[in-house]
Amino acid sequence: MPDQLPDDPTILGPDDLVHLRVPADGMCWWCRERPATTGEHKFKRTDLARLMSDGESLIWGERGKNTREIRGTSGMTRDRYGVIKFPKSLCETCNNKRSKPFDTAYETYSAHVSQTSLRIMPGVDFQEIFAGDWEESTLNLARYYAKHFGCRIVRAGLPVPASLRAFLDGANDMPDAHMALITTDAVHKRFGSGLSISPDFAATDREMNRITTWIMAAYVGSIGVRYEWHEEGIPYRSQFFHFPHPVINCFKDEQAVFDGRTRRPGWFASLLQWANRPRR
Ligand SMILES: [Zn+2]
Repeated sequence: MPDQLPDDPTILGPDDLVHLRVPADGMCWWCRERPATTGEHKFKRTDLARLMSDGESLIWGERGKNTREIRGTSGMTRDRYGVIKFPKSLCETCNNKRSKPFDTAYETYSAHVSQTSLRIMPGVDFQEIFAGDWEESTLNLARYYAKHFGCRIVRAGLPVPASLRAFLDGANDMPDAHMALITTDAVHKRFGSGLSISPDFAATDREMNRITTWIMAAYVGSIGVRYEWHEEGIPYRSQFFHFPHPVINCFKDEQAVFDGRTRRPGWFASLLQWANRPRR
């Protein structure tokens, strides 16, 4: 999606940030105790199997690389382009055992999203999706995404925010990060009901000595989770995972997602837009 990337030279992608990279020590980025022997799936096998059975192919877009497409289960098994899995950055315990509840919550959520026309709805009903334990399950869903975004930061060779690690460890919030549910028109047009991930957006301080901002998103169809992190904190954040019925914020394209510039939704929920968005 090069036509949608920001022109602002102060906004950089991971390739521009080589000098900020942390040396890889071969350890799991989550626990930092055990060797990294496994790679997290960028796209869960259950999602892929569902897509394949619907006759769809996986289309994967990423900044700086061409869009790639996988057709059929043989393509999944080979993973020739490293499309399915991130490079090895987690230990087996963290990637499997510790994140099992996150995976379970995500599988339930993604099955619901792919079967529901959420794009024309004002929000997601976690009470309907998770029933009685929606509070814990919604937190675990957010932790699934946190782990995904952490893997993307590590893949770029950059330091993972401490709050993200603490969130995975069981904290109920991240004081310097905001997660929102979104839908993006350009993603809807381009990927349909497929899976996709946004470009990774990072910003640095003026001297380019450190990363000060991360913004990225991951989608099931056109329904995504947007992660925004600011070094100086986000005092008035309001997280989707604290609400039984969080709103879906509407965006035109990836640039608007990066800018945090919502469009008016196609229906009367316009007053709710960014209702739980933090002040910047
Ligand atoms: Zn670990």
